[in-house]
Amino acid sequence: MPITRSGYAPPRDTTVERGYGNQHRKLRAAISHAVAAGNVRCARCHQPIHPGQAWDLDHTDDRAGYLGASHAVCNRGNTPHPGTKKNPYR
Ligand SMILES: [Zn+2]
Repeated sequence: MPITRSGYAPPRDTTVERGYGNQHRKLRAAISHAVAAGNVRCARCHQPIHPGQAWDLDHTDDRAGYLGASHAVCNRGNTPHPGTKKNPYR
């Protein structure tokens, strides 16, 4: 039986197979209030996520946990990774 970092491998079904199960939905719902209020910074670029801006509940790269909220564009890899290049907009 495989041991994951969390110590628990959830049973396979259609809602959890891609890591977007009940826990993800609950976390996203919890964070969404803070995002809607403009109180959350992107987990990847560390810029504020403005109310109404597209965002994702971002996984760590190894999918062992959650980074937190990040801009949809950052989560989908359209932005240089922080630390690889200085932000040209600063
Ligand atoms: Zn971002």
